[in-house]
Amino acid sequence: MNKFKIQQWLHQYPLFKKLISLEEVFWINPKLENFQTGIKKVKFGLEDVLEAQKRLQRFAPYIAKAFPETQAANGIIESPLVEITEMQHKLVREYQIPQLGKWLLKCDSHLPISGSIKARGGIYEVLKYAEDLAMKHKMLTLEDDYSILDSDRFRNFFSQYSIAVGSTGNLGLSIGIISAKLGFKVTVHMSLDAKQWKKDLLRSKNVNVIEYDSDYSQAVAEGRKQAQTDSSCYFIDDENSHDLFLGYAVAALRLKKQLDELTIQVDQNHPLFVYLPCGVGGGPGGVAFGLKLIFQDHVHCFFAEPTHSPSMLLGLMTGLHEQISVQDVEIDNITDADGLAVGRPSGFVGKTIEPFLSGCYTVSDEQLFILLKDLADIEGIHLEPSALAGMAGPGKLFKEGLGYLQEQKLTEQMSQATHIIWATGGSMVPKEILAHYYMRGNQFL
Ligand SMILES: *Cc1c(COP(=O)(O)O)cnc(C)c1O
Repeated sequence: MNKFKIQQWLHQYPLFKKLISLEEVFWINPKLENFQTGIKKVKFGLEDVLEAQKRLQRFAPYIAKAFPETQAANGIIESPLVEITEMQHKLVREYQIPQLGKWLLKCDSHLPISGSIKARGGIYEVLKYAEDLAMKHKMLTLEDDYSILDSDRFRNFFSQYSIAVGSTGNLGLSIGIISAKLGFKVTVHMSLDAKQWKKDLLRSKNVNVIEYDSDYSQAVAEGRKQAQTDSSCYFIDDENSHDLFLGYAVAALRLKKQLDELTIQVDQNHPLFVYLPCGVGGGPGGVAFGLKLIFQDHVHCFFAEPTHSPSMLLGLMTGLHEQISVQDVEIDNITDADGLAVGRPSGFVGKTIEPFLSGCYTVSDEQLFILLKDLADIEGIHLEPSALAGMAGPGKLFKEGLGYLQEQKLTEQMSQATHIIWATGGSMVPKEILAHYYMRGNQFL
């Protein structure tokens, strides 16, 4: 373990001991910069996110036709933003924090097609690949009505190509469902954490599922290796993909519109706090990046990870990013929050988001299950365990983040603040499994 300077870090980083003891921590990112200086370090900008949004718009007629559940929204895959006043009251009492500002839940758990945040980046990257292929072969132009893709002609064409991805479950669901629908041959490399129902569902849709008895990072590595041996295979690289990242970032443009509709302001006097469950980093990273582009210094983004899988936090704290895994500091990466069971973070995302992220915190599995039960009881909203990591955010901010609020000169504004808890998955979980999760929450009370 000499390679990783555990002794040194114990002195250098006040939270390191708690982190490796699997205690919950709340960490403020010392490398946060103001937006104008931070953005100079990044090679993407708003124009890239707008381009991704336009591409999704082009595909909307296809999506509406191929997935009738999206017809009402004209083929735009989007989720509701809802107030959770009762849940806020309950947690304010429980955490003994001030009853300040408005709490909203961003229900990516209820995104159509695949029921998780992966229906953003994952589906976007497959659509982009399909568009590139079809245009290269002169089968599609920018002016076409993309609903023509829902035809045997296109399905036959795409069937010459294959797509592969490594996943703890939800990315596999997104990529598998959309790829199979378009006609691609698709293989999902599933880590040990992946739930059986996700594998069964994919197999029922003609997706080739390969199972590993190792964790996410190894499933990805194996998938990447196999894809390299086949030149007709496109590998969706969750750890490094810029397309995934930009697909996720489009969420921010949509969220801005939803906030406008609710007449919620975001400015100097109305700060916005956003709490995002983090696995490898692409989903929360893309969303946070998009939000910074739009709200700049008025939005404050926090990533949430399980105490047993704090990979992004470890990568950011030590500055080692993808060069370090939680296993390197003897953390086991075993959690029931399967969407977050990632031991090694994306270096691409960590380095991109570093100037923009306010902080990270960790949550125990026990807390996730308790919050899962509370949200079901109080608001009637059923989520998977990973999706509750954001819910602990406001409590932690008020209890442990007062220094941050002072430093940012936000103390006075907190009564006008908005807190968005990003609920990242759950609507596709089978009823009996939801019931089992709910029971786990009961056991801890
Ligand atoms: C994948 C996932 C996340 C985190 O996204 P990453 O891109 O892996 O960081 C959060 N919640 C759920 C339910 C997920 O499936």
